[in-house]
Amino acid sequence: MATPHQTDDTSTKMIERAPRLDIIIVGAGLGGLATAVSCALAQHRVIVLEASRELAEIGAGLQITPNASRLLRRWGLEAEVEAVAAEPTLLAVHRYSNGKILAEERDFDKKMRTKYDAPFLDMHRADLQKILFNKALSLGVRVELGVRISKVVPGPEVVLESGKRLHGDLVIGADGLWSKCRESMLGKSDQPLPTGDLAYRIVLDLEKMTNPELRQWISNPQVHFWIGPYSHAVAYSLRGGTMYNIVLLCPDDLPKDVSRSKGSVGEMRALFSGWDPILTRFLEQVDQVDKWKLMHREELETWTNAEKDFVLIGDSCHPMLPYLAQGANSSLEDAGVLGGLLSHVKSKEQLRWAITLYERVRKSRSEKIVRETFRQRDAFHMPDGEEQEVRDSLFASQLGKSISCNFPSRWTCPEVQPWLYGYDSYHEADEAINLHPFSSIGGLESE
Ligand SMILES: Cc1cc2nc3c(=O)[nH]c(=O)nc-3n(C[C@H](O)[C@H](O)[C@H](O)COP(=O)(O)OP(=O)(O)OC[C@H]3O[C@@H](n4cnc5c(N)ncnc54)[C@H](O)[C@@H]3O)c2cc1C
Repeated sequence: MATPHQTDDTSTKMIERAPRLDIIIVGAGLGGLATAVSCALAQHRVIVLEASRELAEIGAGLQITPNASRLLRRWGLEAEVEAVAAEPTLLAVHRYSNGKILAEERDFDKKMRTKYDAPFLDMHRADLQKILFNKALSLGVRVELGVRISKVVPGPEVVLESGKRLHGDLVIGADGLWSKCRESMLGKSDQPLPTGDLAYRIVLDLEKMTNPELRQWISNPQVHFWIGPYSHAVAYSLRGGTMYNIVLLCPDDLPKDVSRSKGSVGEMRALFSGWDPILTRFLEQVDQVDKWKLMHREELETWTNAEKDFVLIGDSCHPMLPYLAQGANSSLEDAGVLGGLLSHVKSKEQLRWAITLYERVRKSRSEKIVRETFRQRDAFHMPDGEEQEVRDSLFASQLGKSISCNFPSRWTCPEVQPWLYGYDSYHEADEAINLHPFSSIGGLESE
């Protein structure tokens, strides 16, 4: 049985930093890499095991909201991230059929920074993954690509598909929607569930675009939603306004056992024909598209094992609809809280207490966000009719004003945005430690 610190000379460098715990992270997605960074910054020795042979450009655009961008700043990545991001100056919601503005927040960039002291950024997922990967390497994290794990067993030990075993003080399951770690935690097979919706994901390059109006939309970073019956579209610029990301959300018609496939451009255009001409003009530029089934999971009773040396983060425990753009943001929140708590841990004995607090701090919040994503679907996907008219009059009553009610777009709702974007993972971790210091662990566990 190998331990992460027995294997190569990277570990020698790490020993010089006097690491306290050996941490194994399964999965080098955004959640896994962010956690590798936060745990290495907390002075622990980290190894990440990733099934893919390379960190490829999977996925497309990503909205990074202030609850996550403040973490990127904390990890010293602000300048690098902003150099490849686009910062939208407007967030607008349009009626699908004619493009009429139902809601809009101007000076969105300035308002976000003023309210939350952190930016709202749009970026390519691959750019963020690369930045986190390089940061992790610079902190001495070992990332092993092409290593697929089959299960986690008591020890805790990670069992690789090759049959090899790896022992650590803590195993963090960050292996996404199709998580093996989750199955190990549950002790049974457990598949994700369809949400009933799918996403068409599109990325367009400014340099390939000749239409001046479309070029103007791309080079002027903004976020636009078009909302219609059972469907909506969202579009925003990436990479400083040189790329455009469009996601079309609609009812799922993929076969039951297909989670991702090449889509038909003709079929996609037909589904959105009759929508705002600016959107359909963009769709005319598309020559290939992917379809992603949107999946979710039932809430778990617990994200940790009884020994508190094995824990889940990210999509492995709280996948959600992307309708509030919080999947990756909340896995970064997990990383921040875990890193914050583990920075107080000086011995293996204290680990149990930190992991108990992690679950306490993170589970209820993440599950609240998941539920909110489904509410956002209900509010955005209303078929035309009485309920939609009531919704649109509510939108109209707030147009051009400071919104003062429970608003159908949670993106700017004064009852949702503050708790969503105002969250500070490190503050939450510190507060949890202050409220439940190490000495109170017995009491906390029996609560
Ligand atoms: C259409 C769409 C739009 C989205 N938009 C946004 C957005 O704007 N903002 C946002 O915050 N989120 C968004 N999301 C959600 C976001 O992409 C996910 O929530 C996020 O990537 C989850 O991160 P993760 O690290 O938990 O999992 P993943 O990113 O899925 O990473 C899991 C990693 O684990 C590896 N792995 C899996 N199994 C094994 C194994 N057995 N052994 C070793 N490695 C393994 C995988 O190869 C992968 O690299 C969107 C999602 C979709 C579908």
